[in-house]
Amino acid sequence: MTDHLYIAGEWVKPSTSDTIAVENPATEETIDHVPAGGSSDVDAAVAAARAAFDGWAATAEGDRRAALDRLHTALSARSDAIARTVGLELGAPLKVARSIQAGLPLTVLRWYADALPESEETLGNSLVVHEPVGVVAAITPWNYPLHQVVTKVAAALAAGCTVVLKPSEITPLVSYLLFDAVHEAGLPPGVLNLVTGTGPEVGAALAAHPDVDMVSFTGSTATGRSIARAAADRIAKVALELGGKSANVVLPDADLTAAVKVGVGNAFLNSGQTCTAWTRMLVHESRYAEAVEMAAAAAGKYRLGDPFDEATRLGPVVSAAQRERVRAFLSRAEARVAAGGLDAAVPERGHFVAPTVLADVDPASEVAQEEIFGPVLAIIPFRDDDDAVRIANDSRYGLAGAVWSADEQRALAVARRMRTGSVDINGATFNPAAPFGGYKQSGIGRELGPYGLAEFQQTKAIQR
Ligand code: NAD
Repeated sequence: MTDHLYIAGEWVKPSTSDTIAVENPATEETIDHVPAGGSSDVDAAVAAARAAFDGWAATAEGDRRAALDRLHTALSARSDAIARTVGLELGAPLKVARSIQAGLPLTVLRWYADALPESEETLGNSLVVHEPVGVVAAITPWNYPLHQVVTKVAAALAAGCTVVLKPSEITPLVSYLLFDAVHEAGLPPGVLNLVTGTGPEVGAALAAHPDVDMVSFTGSTATGRSIARAAADRIAKVALELGGKSANVVLPDADLTAAVKVGVGNAFLNSGQTCTAWTRMLVHESRYAEAVEMAAAAAGKYRLGDPFDEATRLGPVVSAAQRERVRAFLSRAEARVAAGGLDAAVPERGHFVAPTVLADVDPASEVAQEEIFGPVLAIIPFRDDDDAVRIANDSRYGLAGAVWSADEQRALAVARRMRTGSVDINGATFNPAAPFGGYKQSGIGRELGPYGLAEFQQTKAIQR
């Protein structure tokens, strides 16, 4: 079906014969092609979503959730295929592909299928009701290709919106598994539509479409800016999940072994292609040398290679262009290479970058300020808690972060001062219902849980 689009409940032929090749970044081989959709495909998909909107919005919430429950069942049945597909098109090692790339979207979908019914509120003489925003365009990136799709789609559908999805053209294949599940689950025609294609063609047409009420986007800050501009012309709502340069603050009383081990794992997860990755490790000067040594040793243990080999811990980055981008950052970096670097050995075939630890990094330098999106960790010393907060906040991004300390109150005080959408203390576990999103240039709006649902709603006040 990967030569089709999914519009109005059917697999349809695209309007053009142009296709986009999908590559396996571990082998550099073309594994499939998907349609390069055009603006008439976008028009057809938006018209289908518009036609389905009134009916879906009026569907009882319980019935909408039952549909999500059926979708969860159909998608769960495909979890092995999902892990395998993300392994092939992204190069995610099997363990990450199974637990995160396939596991997380199912957790998120389950949450929206189970979420408590929306309640109306009374405020003085007003009845406050929540209504779906309308037709949503969901535009997603390649790094967590199913999770980012499901995060938007599940919340939008639960809220009563209808959706046109444009997945990343670099990793579009896993979306076909989702739509296979959508078809099997019997979602009403037009409620969820798929148009594959490039950003400038399909993405831009969706962002500027007069019949799209909201654009929910995850990707780079540069693209987010152009989507917000296109939406501004018709005052359409946008939700933007953009880049990050998150700080992992290791206070002097922290359990250093745990902080460095978890910190390195977080920075290198998904080959460093994670928007929330803690790519700056800030360590108190009294423990700095020790931390650099431990991080370098941890990086040296990563085994690179075939994502389908169970022993592999680090796959390639997604493309030749991404690899060149990461290497260009490394070539310009004025820092001490404590592990990895440009000269370290990597498999010959595939877009591999050695896990790299940079020490003595100037907080104002490019590698401490720019999102690299590869397995590169910058370690920076600080003098005291105020200095740590100052360095952590010295970023145009504000997505995530971490604090480690033996004293939870001290960690909490630092966490409260960090200008980011989330902070994890002492390696706390991920909460799929917690609001997720950024301050500053990391974005606008929140995803996941009740805050993610509210993003797809309008609020109406009825006075009586
Ligand atoms: P990208 O911005 O190039 O592409 C994201 C999506 O936007 C793709 O589907 C692409 O086709 C589309 N697009 C590109 N140009 C467009 C245009 N002019 N109009 C409309 N759509 C367009 O980003 P990417 O390279 O796919 O992903 C990597 C970036 O995404 C990184 O910077 C990363 O930090 C960010 N990201 C952020 C989050 C988050 O949740 N905050 C999550 C993942 C990735």
